[in-house]
Amino acid sequence: MIKKFIDRLLGKGDAAAAPGRPKLGKRVEVPASEHGIDPALLDDKALKVVATLQEAGHQAYVVGGAVRDMLLGHRPKDFDVATDATPEQVKALFRRAFIIGRRFRIVHVVYGRGREHEVIEVSTFRAYLDAAAAEQVEGNEKTAKSELQGKGHVVDASGRVLRDNVWGPQVEDAARRDFTVNALYYDPKTQTVVDYHGGIADAKKRLLRMIGDPLTRYREDPVRIVRIVRFAAKLGFEIEPKTLKPLHACVALLEAVPVSRLFDEMIKLLQTGHALKSIAQLRKLGLLGGAERPGGAGIFPLLDAVLADAQENPAREAFIQAALADTDRRVAEDKAVAPSFLLACLLWHEVLAGWQRRKAGGAPPFPALQEAVDAVFDARIGDISGRGKLGADMREIWMMQPRFERRSGSTPASLVEQPRFRAGFDFLRLRADTGEVEVELAEWWEDYSLGSDEERRALIDLAREQEQQRRHAAGAPRGAVRRVPAQVAE
Ligand code: ATP
Ligand code: MG
Repeated sequence: MIKKFIDRLLGKGDAAAAPGRPKLGKRVEVPASEHGIDPALLDDKALKVVATLQEAGHQAYVVGGAVRDMLLGHRPKDFDVATDATPEQVKALFRRAFIIGRRFRIVHVVYGRGREHEVIEVSTFRAYLDAAAAEQVEGNEKTAKSELQGKGHVVDASGRVLRDNVWGPQVEDAARRDFTVNALYYDPKTQTVVDYHGGIADAKKRLLRMIGDPLTRYREDPVRIVRIVRFAAKLGFEIEPKTLKPLHACVALLEAVPVSRLFDEMIKLLQTGHALKSIAQLRKLGLLGGAERPGGAGIFPLLDAVLADAQENPAREAFIQAALADTDRRVAEDKAVAPSFLLACLLWHEVLAGWQRRKAGGAPPFPALQEAVDAVFDARIGDISGRGKLGADMREIWMMQPRFERRSGSTPASLVEQPRFRAGFDFLRLRADTGEVEVELAEWWEDYSLGSDEERRALIDLAREQEQQRRHAAGAPRGAVRRVPAQVAE
């Protein structure tokens, strides 16, 4: 019985082909009077991309999350376009367009430069993928690159899609999207929505429903498990029971997903404005491990470790809650958020504990902090290629913290000049907000960073006086060893 179940999960035996070819949806064109999308929510670059493709004789629609969000009355943060033009044909129509991706080739059409640049993702309609008929290879993305060369549809032994680059008609493209509310196509010219799978009705019911057989669809791409958590949190939708049923049995398949893709999904879960709700959703679905699921692992070991730890320690819990709430607030206010900052927050108490332990063992403060940071990187972040900058930024935020304790000499002037000062300071303020350091310290640095030369001199004097008073109150002799030795502050 159990073996049969595992075989089915891994796509072995008769059961593998069981779901068969799914029913393709039926094309339904819904007019503006019914769907009620306000065209003013559309972005003019997305409009331009659709119009350019249509004028060149291609079909083109705004698709996916943007249509879903407009249907719900929200202005989308980014726009995806789907077309029957091939990536090469798309690229030829735009001045700045780049074909990217291997597993899933798409075109990035780019407008503007620098921080203000905007990217419209254009994908070619995909043919329906029949997992049973697709070419099967051993291994995964990491081991099978040469085998994948020149192939269109490829799946691994568990049915996971490794390559998905066969073009097809729109009806098939719709069937291979994940949820019904994500498979809507909007034509800005006629203002109609093309709906093959009852997505508009599900949006009205606030329901996440997987297109096709849910078990097959999780096997094709286990990351859909994380996506459903994200959408349930972001949209406040319920998950349809049939879609939910095979979810837990498929969690183990996430182990075969490349670490960097899962890492990106975790960041999306936490940095797109609904971090607190995402954690609540993970908890509700029993997808957190550690203390929350004795004996069972969650889907993100890093989160499991952090949250289990926080549950046992109110100070840590408060800090993490504050960091997540702060991130959600910043996204809501359209301010920039950096993964390095949030990760530095999530892992701070582990760094702090390691630092204190090493100092208690007699290690000098600065090397002790460096060692503690290294240990946390090894244990929690591991070797995620291409993350050099992320790691460097986290390290800088942490290493800056003891320097904030030193408010004399040249330290303040040089600290505020550091390019990452703002991130380090925001981190300090979060520590102050949750009672880890004095609020006055964060206020002092805020004033200092904004102050004129004269104000800065006055603030240095003030800090000196405060320090003297503190020592006096503590009964310490003048010239006693500073709390933070100079070597930490340099
Ligand atoms: P968001 O608001 O987070 O951008 P989104 O629905 O637009 O949500 P994207 O990751 O931008 O999500 O993907 C765009 C569209 O591509 C989705 O709406 C969906 O139709 C399709 N899609 C993306 N990832 C998958 C997947 N793993 N499986 C099936 N379809 C997918
Ligand atoms: Mg999107």
